Amino acid sequence: MTRQHTFLMTPGPLALNDEVKAEMQYDIGSRDPSFKKITARVRDLIIDLVGGQGAYSAIPMQGGGSYGIEAALASFVATSDRPLVCINGIYGERMLRMLQLRGIHAVSITAPSDRSLPIAEIATCLESDPEITHVCFVHCETTTGVVNPIGSIVELARQNGVRTIIDAMSSFGGMEISARQVAFDVLVTSSNKCIEGPPGVSFVIASLEMLNSNADCTNSFVLDVRDQWRSFEKNGEWRSTPPTHIVQACAKALERLAIEGVVRRGERYSSVRDAIIRATDPYASPLLKPHVRSPVCLALTAGDVIHTQKDLDALYAHLVDYNLYIYTKLHLPTRSFRIGCMGSIDPMWIRLLEIAFEDFFNANRSVQRPSPPPKDRFVEKAM
Ligand SMILES: *Cc1c(COP(=O)(O)O)cnc(C)c1O
Repeated sequence: MTRQHTFLMTPGPLALNDEVKAEMQYDIGSRDPSFKKITARVRDLIIDLVGGQGAYSAIPMQGGGSYGIEAALASFVATSDRPLVCINGIYGERMLRMLQLRGIHAVSITAPSDRSLPIAEIATCLESDPEITHVCFVHCETTTGVVNPIGSIVELARQNGVRTIIDAMSSFGGMEISARQVAFDVLVTSSNKCIEGPPGVSFVIASLEMLNSNADCTNSFVLDVRDQWRSFEKNGEWRSTPPTHIVQACAKALERLAIEGVVRRGERYSSVRDAIIRATDPYASPLLKPHVRSPVCLALTAGDVIHTQKDLDALYAHLVDYNLYIYTKLHLPTRSFRIGCMGSIDPMWIRLLEIAFEDFFNANRSVQRPSPPPKDRFVEKAM
């Protein structure tokens, strides 16, 4: 049976480069020196990308992004601690839920999901509650693609003597993060977003100070970041079977990222995002103001035409006819839907998206909406 690749425009998993996928053809023993070398290479490449040489260590953990976040929270927040979780989307909510499941008395601030986290409110919270031990937040909230001010939040936390645990799942590799400029304590990312690898492994980047602290928070074997770190440092091995093929592909993906550079990768995503905005205009509009928009994904709203999940299901099904796959879920608080800008996106897919939107919205236009100006579908648009 011949199968066609789907045109994947979701914020993870992504359309992968063939070179990255090719690495998964090789079967390697997980405790063999050649695999230890690959693991060490992955760890080094990540530390180089974040400028953390000498002060940080990258610890790969089996499992997707959520596993990495839960591992970081389980390893660096004790039951007696009082973390502050700053929330402006579903991934911030998820961090809070993970802490609550561990019986930790977390406090939280919730802001609208189409705005950046409010610095002044975080400052007030830290000043009025000296018991707070950590600030936990998401750098790029993939719910809407809104970017939070990582530098200001980390600086504020440091001034208050508070630790930072950051979900940088969808920003690492696509937006510059330098540990020399932003002295975070713990930052988590995963293989399948801007690193452009397959899903299945997450990376906890922790300061050596945090790793060497004797805090004994962990009541889990698989989520114990320090224990995994000690194993890597001792003999280069994972404690239990790693997803070898995925780690191999990640090594290649990280090499490609190092060559392209984070800044250029971010620019590539931004130009895809802007091309999607042009292609879907005037049927849909970006939810976010330009200055808070990330390059990695685009949240769109389409008034009355896409108002319920059922409406989005219809658009989704229509796009599938064109082999295009966007994120399936409508974000109800903002009535927005998402299109990913990461990965190996072919400009032809955006052209197809334009044609598909035109067909769909011309057939489903609500009576209140003005009719769009006629477009010549064969006129090429600049990317
Ligand atoms: C994708 C994502 C996650 C979750 O990652 P999974 O691999 O789905 O577990 C967490 N936080 C953010 C910001 C993400 O974009």
